Amino acid sequence: MNSVDQDKSTIVTRFAPSPTGKMHIGGARTALFNWLFARANNGTFLLRIEDTDRLRSSDRATEQILADLRWLGLNWDREPISQRERVARHVGAARELLSENLAYRCFSTPDEIATARKEAEARGKPTLFQSPWRNTPESAQPDLPCTIRLKTPETGVTRVEDAIHGSVSWKNETLDDMIILRSDGSPTYNFAVVVDDHDMGISHVIRGDDHLSNTARQSRVYDAFGWKLPKFAHIPLILSESGKKLSKRDGDLGIDHFRELGFTPESVLNYLARLGWSHGDDECFGVDQAVEWFSLEGLGKSPARLNQSKLRNISLQHMKISDEAFLADEVLKLRNRMGFPELDKIAKERLLRAIPILKMRSATLIELN
Ligand code: GLU
Repeated sequence: MNSVDQDKSTIVTRFAPSPTGKMHIGGARTALFNWLFARANNGTFLLRIEDTDRLRSSDRATEQILADLRWLGLNWDREPISQRERVARHVGAARELLSENLAYRCFSTPDEIATARKEAEARGKPTLFQSPWRNTPESAQPDLPCTIRLKTPETGVTRVEDAIHGSVSWKNETLDDMIILRSDGSPTYNFAVVVDDHDMGISHVIRGDDHLSNTARQSRVYDAFGWKLPKFAHIPLILSESGKKLSKRDGDLGIDHFRELGFTPESVLNYLARLGWSHGDDECFGVDQAVEWFSLEGLGKSPARLNQSKLRNISLQHMKISDEAFLADEVLKLRNRMGFPELDKIAKERLLRAIPILKMRSATLIELN
């Protein structure tokens, strides 16, 4: 192995879905980019199920996400990690910062915080909460429920290098002392993510740019522990065909829906890859080709737009070059899932004979059927 290969094999990415519902096109695209980057660099692709929100998370949603990833062929390395099962580690990490005086116990109640904010607002002052407990010695602390807050420097800037957004910075005076452990003992999201990414050895975090603002806080946690920051790439969101934020009006964007419409995994992967990544003018390619071509430099800076006709076009191209026996098999599986009666031997042979002609003008397995 030469030194470049050694360096490449240290690449570890992850997909970290919250199992609160179906996997949508945006989540699948995030998974794909992380997978492609790992596979392109002989690296490792991990899964972390962010299931700490007990009320909204479900095992069923986790199973569905795993099934969708399998269907797409986005195989992961090692057992998926459950964030919920790591709470003791998060608590321990918070206590470590506490013992090093990098974090402190805060006894301000939500009411007191709301009042302090209102008063600051009335006086035209910044409403960022400044805890009166930041410098209180342990001997002077009450025996009451408390949160644990991270001490954020009061001056200076927090800077993060992002592969897509370049150098992004925040004035520390605009960041509050974030809560890392709530008064019920549970870790906050921005804290758990950093401890997990560090422990999992994540080298690159590729995710939607709705998480860019979280990165300021997460970067403070890395600094407090003296941990090296991963490389970040915050990908622009996907917009509707008309360029608006996605909403229910844009139809069912669950990955299972694309499958039920009869699109093949190859076509869906190709379409997802083109939502925010490019390789010259190439529109239609297989996943092996994408693995060969993929680099973070190919990720675009502007939001991608959904485009039904592009999906159809890509799919038409893939269909033309697909193996006929494979397509016949997929049609049979789809019929099965849809509850259609099983085809007899003669009907199967008829299907197989028709496929070479039908595949030249079909975009989906349903059209082939
Ligand atoms: N669980 C987060 C989400 O589904 C992912 C956060 C991350 O990738 O850091 O949006």
